[in-house]
Parts: sequence; structure tokens; C-alpha cells
Amino acid sequence: MQQHDTDVAVIGAGSAGLAAYRAAKARGRRALLIEHGEHGTTCARVGCMPSKLLIAPADAAHALSRLPAFGLSVGGPVRVDGRAVMARVRRERDRFVGFVTAGVDALPAGDTLQGSARFVDDRTLRVGDDVNVRAASIVIATGSAPFHPAVWDALGDRLVTNAEVFEWVDLPRRVAVLGPGVIGLELGQALHRLGVDVVVFGRGTHVGPLRDPALMDEATRLFGAELPLEREAQVSMTRDGDEVVVMSVAADGAVRERRFDFVLAATGRRPNVGGLGLEATTLARDARGVPYYDRTTLRCGTSPIFIAGDVDDDTQVLHEAADEGRIAGDNAATYPEVRPGLRRALLAIVFTDPQIAIVGGGFDALRGTRHVTGEVSFDRQGRARIMLRNAGRLHVYAEIGTGRFLGAEMVGPDAEHLGHLLAWSLQMGLSIATMLEMPYYHPVVEGLRTALRDAQSRLDAALLQPPDDPCTKVLMS
Ligand SMILES: Cc1cc2nc3c(=O)[nH]c(=O)nc-3n(C[C@H](O)[C@H](O)[C@H](O)COP(=O)(O)OP(=O)(O)OC[C@H]3O[C@@H](n4cnc5c(N)ncnc54)[C@H](O)[C@@H]3O)c2cc1C
Repeated sequence: MQQHDTDVAVIGAGSAGLAAYRAAKARGRRALLIEHGEHGTTCARVGCMPSKLLIAPADAAHALSRLPAFGLSVGGPVRVDGRAVMARVRRERDRFVGFVTAGVDALPAGDTLQGSARFVDDRTLRVGDDVNVRAASIVIATGSAPFHPAVWDALGDRLVTNAEVFEWVDLPRRVAVLGPGVIGLELGQALHRLGVDVVVFGRGTHVGPLRDPALMDEATRLFGAELPLEREAQVSMTRDGDEVVVMSVAADGAVRERRFDFVLAATGRRPNVGGLGLEATTLARDARGVPYYDRTTLRCGTSPIFIAGDVDDDTQVLHEAADEGRIAGDNAATYPEVRPGLRRALLAIVFTDPQIAIVGGGFDALRGTRHVTGEVSFDRQGRARIMLRNAGRLHVYAEIGTGRFLGAEMVGPDAEHLGHLLAWSLQMGLSIATMLEMPYYHPVVEGLRTALRDAQSRLDAALLQPPDDPCTKVLMS
């Protein structure tokens, strides 16, 4: 048995793990980065970057469909060369992955270890069968993996996830997307716009990460107008040769049978905690097997173990994974001294068209608050209409009494930019009144100010309402 001694052992060389490793090294500690798969990170290899590489040509093709409305034409319908599209996706993806692997290759010899790590106790890892790693502290940064019901495995190689899609050398003819969450919507719409016959099936009423009922309905209407989006569908699937037969029962009881070349499982991602041997540690774990941890220090209980990135089952977005890696690596290096790190206002963006943005905890975080909702529809918004992108809604939430901005949900044009303005305002703790003091250039997509004004007038009106408390009610009457 080989023996390694280090100060900080990091399990997983993804975005969180790399950030944790670098933070520990910056503190002058010895650090060991352990990876059991290919280097290159989920983000660069099968996540953020290749998905955006697929979306870019899809949006370009779709933009051409607007030309006639502007009085323009380029002579005939767009022709999609699936092989060329996928070749560029893979080529550019490989370029991004290359930057990551070059960074790993440049790490000092002896700082990386290839193999699968599992806990022997709170300070000891077994890597593979014959390497023992003893560390003063350990960071778990093992990421997440796509999850789907086990019975779907009977579809064999006709069942794909984001891990396989970007390896396609050509675009298939027909794809059933199971799950209208972030990944299902982004990839489903992109494939549809590239000429693939796509149906997106959802078991419930959710669309992307939206939870505000009015916005879920709006998103269903908008995406459903472009491609078949079947919510509240019960689906069963069987393989027939190289095809998958999908039998669906819609909410209204209508039964349909359709054939597809592939089923894309986009039914969520689960933290990679299985096989880590966490039962050999002192850590208390939740129902999904994720250790309980402090969100500001990333420390698990009172142990020398820290957790960062998708595996902690918190936000599953890249910038949070990197932040968490930094905080966990820093605290693992200074352990037993640990300090809270900076946690930013929550922001999630979906790169569909129209885009979706959730700021703060969105609608779900409003439970138990006294709040108003400021609303705007982009249907009649001037600049959006000029650009033929006048669709969608924005809801901003504000606390009655303080006027504090609480968060937002949006499906609409330029949500990626408006989302940032709103997330920055949230992190600054701004009130709606202060946000309205900011500049709004004309004519950008100005719906934001309309929604804020609406929130402010509702806040003002709410202050004139007698509060729920019966004693104050009597005094005010
Ligand atoms: C299709 C898709 C699109 C996305 N788009 C976006 C986007 O646009 N914007 C955004 O912010 N986020 C996006 N994300 C999410 C983002 O990619 C993740 O939040 C981020 O990559 C998570 O980083 P991580 O370090 O936690 O995990 P990973 O990068 O997955 O790293 C975990 C590493 O741990 C290794 N590992 C696991 N178990 C062990 C073990 N026992 N021993 C050794 N090594 C182990 C794995 O092999 C892996 O390399 C997307 C994700 C997907 C799937």
C-alpha cells in the first residue's frame, strides 16, 4: 500500500475542486488533487460551454426566420449541415477543455493523483486499491451526475444524457426530451431550431427553474408556441430496433404513440456521494446522502471535512461551484480555524430564447414574507417590439414596510443582463425606491423600470392598508 501525506486532499478536479486546490496552495499548504475520470471539468466538457456552442448556431438559424418581418430575405430557407454544426461544437469544446487540462498538466508533480477516492475515516482516503492518503483536512468536490429512472436503461444506447449529446457527429432526426428543466429546455429548443424533430415531455407543471405560477404559464405558452412542450404527461417507452417508441398520456387523457431516434434524459442531476464511503466518517447526512454543512464555511459539522460544488446539492451553477471551492479550500487550509466566505446573491440564467432568470430564491423564497409583486409584460415594450422580441414577463418582489427588493423571476428578452442588474441590487440590499433612482437609458429593454415602478406603487398602496394585526387595525380605523 502506497502512503501519501498531505495537508489538504481534494476529491474531484472539477471547477470546485480546482478552486479548492488553488486556495489551499495559496495558503502555502501541501495539497493533493484526486480525480478518477477525465480532466477538463463538467462545465467545459459536457456542461455550460458545449451547450452554449449548440445554442449559438440554433439561435442564428432562428434569427433568420425573423428576416421577412424586417423586409429582408437571403433567398430560401436555412439549410442546417448537422455534421458541420456538431464538428464546431466538438472542436470549440475541445479547445475549452484543452485550457483546463493544460492547467492541470502544469501542476507540480506529486500534486495530482488519478483514481477513485473513498473515505476510510475523517482524515484518511483510499484511492483505488493500493493508495492511502492521510490528510489534515479533506474537500469533497465530486460534482453531480444525471439521474433517470432505472427502467429507462432498457433503451440502451438510444437513451442519452448531456454526456453523450455533444459527441454526436451528426444531428439526429427525432429526439424526445424528457424533462423541461434547465438542461432539457436549453438542449430541446436548440435541437428543434437546428431542424431536429423534438418533443419535450414534463411530468409536472414546472418549466425550467421558474416557480412563479404566472411565469410558468407564460413560459409554457411561449415555448409551447415554438415547439411541442407537453406538461403533465405520463410517458412510457420501449425500444424497437434503432427506434424508441414513446407512448404518452396527456393531462386531458389523450394518448399518443410516437417514434424517436433518441431519448434525451434531462430529469435532474444528483450529487455524487455514492461510493465515497461516507458511512466510514463521523458525518451526519441528509436523505440524499449529502453531509450536513455550513453554507458560509462549507465545513461538514465539526469535522475536518469540507464540501463544495454540485455535490453539496445547493445551486448547481458554475460560479457558485468556483466560489464554494475557494471558500472550502481556504478553510481546509487554515483548519481548525474556519471563517465564513463571501456568498453572493443567487442568480440562475437559462439560455433559451426568450431567456429565463431567477434572482435570489425567486418565488419559492417569498413564503412567510409580506411582499408585493411588481409586474411587466414585454408584449408591448417598445425596444423589444422593435427587435421582434416582445414576449415574456418580469416579476419583481419587494418587502412591504421596508421596500427592500427580495428577488425576481423572469422569462423574456435579455434576461441574462436584467438578471445581473437585479442580482447586484439584491446583494447591495437595495430598496425598490433606490433602484428607481438608478439611470435607465432610452430605449433599452426598459421593462425593468416599469416593473419596479409597479412594485413601488403597490408598496405605497400596501402601507395604506390596515395591517393584519387586529389591535393595530382597531387603532387605525
Ligand atoms: C448541460 C449542462 C449545462 C450547464 N450550463 C451551465 C451554465 O450555462 N451556467 C452555469 O453556471 N452552470 C451550468 N451548468 C452547471 C455547471 O456545469 C456545474 O455547476 C459545475 O460544472 C459543477 O462543478 P463541480 O466542480 O461541482 O463538478 P464537476 O466539474 O463535475 O467535477 C467533479 C469531479 O469529481 C470527479 N469525481 C467524482 N467522484 C470522484 C471520486 N470518488 N474520486 C475522484 N474523483 C471523483 C469527477 O470525475 C469530476 O471530474 C451546466 C451543467 C450541465 C450538465
